[in-house]
Amino acid sequence: MHVLICGGAGYVGSHMAKWMASRGFTVSVLDNLSTGHRAAVQWSDLLEVNLLDKHALDQVFSAGPIDAVMHFCARSLVGESVVEPYQYYENNVVGTLNLLQAMRKHGVDRLVFSSTAAVYGHPEMDHIDEEHRKAPINPYGMSKLMVEHMLADAAAAYGLRSVSLRYFNAAGASEDAEIGEAHEPETHLIPNVLKSVLGQGAALKIFGDDYPTPDGTCVRDYVHVDDLAQAHELALRYMDTHEGAHAFNLGSGEGYSVREVMSVAERVTGRSVPYEVAPRRAGDPAVLVASSSRARRELGWQPKYNELGAIIESAWRWHVNRKF
Ligand code: UDP
Repeated sequence: MHVLICGGAGYVGSHMAKWMASRGFTVSVLDNLSTGHRAAVQWSDLLEVNLLDKHALDQVFSAGPIDAVMHFCARSLVGESVVEPYQYYENNVVGTLNLLQAMRKHGVDRLVFSSTAAVYGHPEMDHIDEEHRKAPINPYGMSKLMVEHMLADAAAAYGLRSVSLRYFNAAGASEDAEIGEAHEPETHLIPNVLKSVLGQGAALKIFGDDYPTPDGTCVRDYVHVDDLAQAHELALRYMDTHEGAHAFNLGSGEGYSVREVMSVAERVTGRSVPYEVAPRRAGDPAVLVASSSRARRELGWQPKYNELGAIIESAWRWHVNRKF
């Protein structure tokens, strides 16, 4: 089976390509390298194509039979999306529309879509399930929700099968530390904690310690990137027997505060985390924790990393010896 991984040079996409190649799939990676890394593409060819380039996209699908698409191409920084909303709607919505049209033209009818917990907006329950109200509070979340709506319409009109996977906080790196998280600039908590441990850049900034949580810092649900990859493969298989557009949350179901993440990182690394307390970051809800029981029940998802220490350990191995 030949799977096209769009955005396969990025963080989650590159772990996906490695996972699928190890599982015996034929993989091609499409990426415009705007934020991805050529060095992260090690298990397939790299098609350097922008989803906004319809002609190039058409050539990709004309070149060979593609059985299914996994789609990770996106701008994904919440703060940036507020300042540059058009970039988000163009890349994430128009780019995906072009991809869907090319798939339709070439008879490719299966898509696994990288969605996000940001489609929910402010949480109204302790463990957010898929029925939670969808009320994104920033253009990034809205752009992903718009795609989910397109997928529902495409299912009804054209018979497209799709699974949208709404990640909570993707974290960690491949066990062999060949690839890992490498954003520039880095905005995510765990890499920033580890970079401050390593003395790379300034001390960690804790964005707000006056939230209504036990220690005043924000609580998030961290899920290992290889557990996300496992869920994508299961989603692909799910479409063998399920028509229509489906959506599943992917999270561990456990919440950790920023200070708890720091203390687990101190245990794993044996070093202290230099930090300072900074003002709250705009758009951060106090608590975001998933209910992933639908993914466990219907996809048969069984995350292997059930402990934050193991997730941070894998990230630490990558950060001490980063290859890109
Ligand atoms: N955070 C922080 N310092 C950082 C990066 C993140 O205090 O350098 C906090 C952030 O405010 C949020 C949590 O850590 O409460 C997780 O943020 P991240 O950007 O990793 O993921 P998000 O939840 O925004 O998707």
